[in-house]
Amino acid sequence: MSGAKIYYDADASLEPLRGKTIAVIGYGSQGRAQALNLRDSGLRVVVGLRSEGRSYEVAKADGFEPVPMEVAAERGDVILMLVPDVPMAEVYSRYVEPHLKSGKTLVFAHGYNVHFGRIRPPKDVNVVLVAPKSPGPLLRQKFLEGKGVPALVAVHNDATGEAKSVALAIAKGLGCTRAGVIETTFAEETETDLLGEQAVLVGGVMELIKKGFEVLVENGYQPELAYFEVCNELKLIVDLIYSGGLMGMLRAVSDTAKYGGLTVGPRIVDEHVKENMRRALRAIRSGEFERSWTGNPRAYEELERLMRELEQHPLEKVGRELRAKGLL
Ligand code: NAD
Ligand code: MG
Repeated sequence: MSGAKIYYDADASLEPLRGKTIAVIGYGSQGRAQALNLRDSGLRVVVGLRSEGRSYEVAKADGFEPVPMEVAAERGDVILMLVPDVPMAEVYSRYVEPHLKSGKTLVFAHGYNVHFGRIRPPKDVNVVLVAPKSPGPLLRQKFLEGKGVPALVAVHNDATGEAKSVALAIAKGLGCTRAGVIETTFAEETETDLLGEQAVLVGGVMELIKKGFEVLVENGYQPELAYFEVCNELKLIVDLIYSGGLMGMLRAVSDTAKYGGLTVGPRIVDEHVKENMRRALRAIRSGEFERSWTGNPRAYEELERLMRELEQHPLEKVGRELRAKGLL
């Protein structure tokens, strides 16, 4: 078997955080869940936010007294950077960096900004990654059920000799050590996350669905049927894979589907696709993707244009119609 290093509850202690203040910067998907879990673990949490933001009211309703981001950064011994990855570097340099002191710890939920050098913390500050492998609401829900979601931890800079214990303490406070926490590096977490979402989870799956739909419709089949076949049923398959792996899924589908899938599948997603994935990975590793996204002032415009374009795809139109008719 593989040698991934995994930490559980017994391997982590909250002690490194006792008497310390944890500043949570941003109160969105991860920020809210992390702030609440850490508070419920008995830790002192201060939430740092823009006062005009919508998150401000949410944090108030959750019983926090949000303060401006620079105040939270000033008070925090441990600072969790939980704003979106695109504005994060600017938030860091304006509100956080001026308040870093020797021995403080910066915690990221995604390695992106540090790995690509958009955020370069000083050498006397711990820099760690605690990346829950789930959206914020599920991180919160599992915690309330007495369980946890898995997480990745990594140390980019160990200034105090305790960076890893602090990271594991945060992971424990989030409930993640209940499930298991895997040790990684900023580079590995960032590059695998990007390749995963580009090649498989977001990009790959979307294109498979679209192209399957187009082939059926172009050959005269009804769009409604095509939608069910290549899009709606995907959830059932993914649920089976989620619980039992590829073999678990195969055991549940018909023998015809097994045979067709195993023989034709590799001819659809063939070596060319794998070569394309390798190229995407090279663009991630060389920084080419980073420059096209966070290094590109027009990237959000481009993103919005692409979103509007997809919204008009016949697949999306049929999906909207089926939903309006109550079939989905
Ligand atoms: P989000 O978009 O849900 O929340 C953003 C928060 O930051 C909100 O409180 C918002 O008001 C605030 N904010 C937005 N723009 C801002 C700006 N310009 N200046 C100051 N504050 C701003 O973000 P998220 O999805 O929770 O992501 C936070 C971090 O967690 C990212 O590094 C992300 O990669 C990582 N992460 C997210 C998930 C997830 O499921 N969403 C999972 C793992 C890791
Ligand atoms: Mg991702």
